[in-house]
Amino acid sequence: MSGTDPRFRRVVVPGVRWLRFPRRLEREYRDYHCREAVTAFRVNAFYILLLYVLLITGIYALAPEAVRGRWLGTYIWVGVIVLVAGCMAQLRPLDRYFPLYAGIGSFLAVTLSMAIPGFLYGPAETQLAHVSVIYALVIVYAMVGLRFTHAVMACWGGGVLGWMLAEGFGAGIDWQIAHRTYTGISLLGMFLCYTAEVRDRLLFFNQRQLYRQQQRTQALADRLHRLSREDSLTSLANRRFFDEALEREWRRCKREKKPLAVMLVDVDHFKDYNDHYGHLKGDECLQALATELRRYGRRGGDLVARFGGEEFVLLYPGVEEAEAMQLASRVCRAVRMLGMPHKPNPRVGEVTISVGAAVMVPGERNCAEQLLEAADRALYQAKTAGRDTWKLYSPPPPVRLVSDTAKPDD
Ligand code: GH3
Ligand code: MG
Ligand code: MG
Repeated sequence: MSGTDPRFRRVVVPGVRWLRFPRRLEREYRDYHCREAVTAFRVNAFYILLLYVLLITGIYALAPEAVRGRWLGTYIWVGVIVLVAGCMAQLRPLDRYFPLYAGIGSFLAVTLSMAIPGFLYGPAETQLAHVSVIYALVIVYAMVGLRFTHAVMACWGGGVLGWMLAEGFGAGIDWQIAHRTYTGISLLGMFLCYTAEVRDRLLFFNQRQLYRQQQRTQALADRLHRLSREDSLTSLANRRFFDEALEREWRRCKREKKPLAVMLVDVDHFKDYNDHYGHLKGDECLQALATELRRYGRRGGDLVARFGGEEFVLLYPGVEEAEAMQLASRVCRAVRMLGMPHKPNPRVGEVTISVGAAVMVPGERNCAEQLLEAADRALYQAKTAGRDTWKLYSPPPPVRLVSDTAKPDD
């Protein structure tokens, strides 16, 4: 089989081998790294202290009595540095200064560890002191969580300063041992620190890609969700959303034994409007009407939707007949007040609507479709009554059977 599986194709990440992403990405990475590093260090500081205690007890046991005091008196400062850095890491407002204080702390710890052998005179003690150099370097490169460049600066800078102190004020450093400890461990530490940072950068890059992909997918899903419930011309809820809301509110009102009101709104002589002004103007007119009608659905549970074509529908849970009549009348008046010209509309010459309203208390004997049918019938009545008006559906009076009216004696 030739070619690689596309799932495992190597992603080329710009600048990762040079430990430097393009500028914006690099800034993001540094913030990310700082957050991650300080979080890890909050715990790691304890392990580092533990290692330090292990080392210092070992030294105490092995170092000759004559130098023990001097040795510990100096080396105790390394412990103080670790302790201070560990405490600072627990303070969250200082998080963004982590590279600074951890870098300086590491630098000082390496300086001290490197300088101490220069002040010890017996070869056995010197060898022992070099162990502390190994500890310091391994900890800085592998456990503190500094970025490669900072770790290198702290370790080599501290090493050089420590060496200068040892040469200037002490007996100097045995280079045979120093090479085997300081130089060798430094190179090994650098290698480990470098590979760890490359991995960390790759992880960061992949996480970021994944996050962005998730965001894109989420935005797409949101958009699809919105489109599936929104009418594209008017941005009102669409028919599907209305149907779902009607069922939901019907059930709710049934539970709470409240009335549910529905109003069907139909633009009068809209076909003539289109014929006279053109379809595009017709669309604009529908949009203006939608904006106006939207103002009539302000309470929670209220809904204004496009029912289809030039028809709209308004849903009002918990609204009684009296209030429904008021609302219907206000909606009719509000559209007339817009004063949109509609030449072919006989009598008024402006855009008007007809409204059919119906109110029912949901129960076992009726259903949501019946409420809609009732509103439709009321709309028909409004149309036949001359348009630009509203009607509330009232059920026809029960038909009286002849046998009911006949007198028993007849
Ligand atoms: P009536 O007063 O009896 O309601 O008369 P009408 O002309 O409004 O009723 P009819 O049902 O005959 O015509 C409805 C018109 O609405 C026909 C159609 O061209 C127009 N229409 C439906 N949807 C749209 C739309 O999205 N944009 C535009 N511009 N017109 C539409
Ligand atoms: Mg119509
Ligand atoms: Mg119409």
